[in-house]
Parts: sequence; structure tokens; C-alpha cells
Amino acid sequence: LQAEWQKLKNAKSITKDGKQIEIAANIGTPKDLVGVNDNGAEGIGLYRTEFLYMDSEDFPTEDEQFEAYKEVLEGVNGNAVVVRTMDIGGDKELPYLDLPEEMNPFLGYRAVRISLAETDMFRTQLRALLRASHYGKLRIMFPMIATVNEFRDAKAILEEEKEALVAAGTPVSDEIQVGIMIEIPAAAVLAHQFAKEVDFFSIGTNDLIQYTMAADRMNERVSYLYQPYNPSILTLLKHVIDSAHAEGKWVGMCGEMAGDQTAVPLLLGLGLDEFSMSASSVLKTRSLIAKLDSKEMEKLADKAINECSTVQEVIALVKEVEASIA
Ligand code: PEP
Ligand code: MG
Repeated sequence: LQAEWQKLKNAKSITKDGKQIEIAANIGTPKDLVGVNDNGAEGIGLYRTEFLYMDSEDFPTEDEQFEAYKEVLEGVNGNAVVVRTMDIGGDKELPYLDLPEEMNPFLGYRAVRISLAETDMFRTQLRALLRASHYGKLRIMFPMIATVNEFRDAKAILEEEKEALVAAGTPVSDEIQVGIMIEIPAAAVLAHQFAKEVDFFSIGTNDLIQYTMAADRMNERVSYLYQPYNPSILTLLKHVIDSAHAEGKWVGMCGEMAGDQTAVPLLLGLGLDEFSMSASSVLKTRSLIAKLDSKEMEKLADKAINECSTVQEVIALVKEVEASIA
């Protein structure tokens, strides 16, 4: 099997009936580039920049960040890199950022909420990103967006920093895409409005599922409720993907679900454009995609959403597909 996958290392990701999608990788540091290239990922769908902050004794400087972002942009053979601005809070602590204890950290002060409040830290990161944009194909993504206003505020700060850099003669790419993570149900439900303003969505199912099911992603006792294939989740994903496409925007997924072999046929059927996963899952997913017919998967996804009421029924439908391609 490994040998069969290896043959796909330099191949595009194409379904049996010729539909091309993108399979990208998730990374946490520039060191992860080795795995990305060894596994033939088509770029980076999620660069979790919080590790830059967490692996450091103090706030990383603008230059330190610039070097890291540049290294990643230059290390992917011209492919696109989606860099997520820092997502501290929730389960990710930062000793030198003295955050008060909260009753519900996952529902608290985290990610873009911190960025929009502690704007010095945010502006430093954005300047580093803008400077690095000159060295590759950069896409900037804001995490934990709940409202359209948050996106507008974050984007306005980005624009301000861009204008200042350009005025100072610093080269900045004109082709940076700016998007958001869809990981809060409010944003998923309002995707048709967000889609008018963003360049892309990337669905963060790790959080989207926990918030939609009200089941802590770290709590074993409620893990039975953490159901990626629940028809409620699939219905939400459909709305997000259809809304983006109606505005001519692309949609990726960077949560674990994107590399989940049971989910892939459903996601393909829902029309997902980009799947971003741990590098070690890229080749097996490319191999699976090559065996699937996109039109058949559309029917599968339709059936899962319109005829299934439980996760077990959805899994049974996918098992039929698996049996037919085995
Ligand atoms: C997600 O929520 O799906 C995601 C990709 O972000 P993280 O796992 O870093 O919260
Ligand atoms: Mg998340």
C-alpha cells in the first residue's frame, strides 16, 4: 500500500471522473516542511503560528516571525501557504501573556479576540506576514471569527499595516488572500454574508464540532457526542460550502475531519475544494480521492443530509461506498 501511495507523491489530486481538488498539509513550525514535501502536499492549508509564541520565552519579535514565515513561504515549491494568526487561549496557554483564569476557556478570551484587544501583538504579527508575503503565495487567515465585524476590524488593521509598509517602500505582495476559519457555529450559519467579504473559508471542524454538539473536544465522557458525520454537522458544512461557491470563493478544511478517510467521500460530495491535514495522511487521501467519482459522492452527501437522521445511518452509507471501491 505504501508503495502504491508513493507513486502519487508528485501527482495532482484528481477524482476518478477528473475533478481536481487540493490536498495540503497542516504545520506548526518551519521544521514540519520536511514532512510536507516528503508526502507531496500541495502547499500548506494551516500554519498554526501559536507555536512560535508557545515555544518562546517572550513574544517573538517581528524579525523572528518574518524569518519563520519567509522560510515556510519559500519552502513549498511555489504553492500557497495559509497562515493563521495566533490562536492562543482555549487549550493553548502562553506563560508570558498573563491571562486571567476563566471558567470556560474554550468560550473565552482567545485567538482573534485577543488579537483585536492586544493590537500591538497583532500588528507585529501582521507586519511580519506582510513583509514575508513578497517571498511566496501567502494567504492570511483569522481564527475564531464569530461576527462579520470582527473580520472587518481585523482586515482593517491588516490594511493599515500594509499601507504603512508600502509607504515606507517595503515590498508587499498584491495578491494576498484574506480569509477566516469557520469554527464557530454563528459564522457557519452566517456563511452567506461572510462569503461576500472574505477571499476564502477554511473550516475548523475540531472546534466547529465541539461548539455545535456542545461537547468538549478534550472530554472523554462526552466524546460519543463528538460526531463529525452527524447529519447536523454535514448540513452546516453544506451551507458553508454552497455559500462560498455562490460568491465564487474557495473553501478548505483544516480540522482533523479533512483527513478522516470516512469523511473524505462525504466532503468530496459536498464540494470541498481543499483538504488540509497532517502530512502523513496526504498520500492515502490522494489515493482514496482517485478511486471516488465526484458525481456519485454528491449523491452520497445529498442522501446523508436529506435521508439520514443519525450518525450510524451516515456511516452505513459510506461503508457501501467503501465496499464498492475495495
Ligand atoms: C480546528 O478548530 O479545527 C482547527 C484546525 O484549529 P485548532 O485545532 O488549532 O483549534
Ligand atoms: Mg480551532
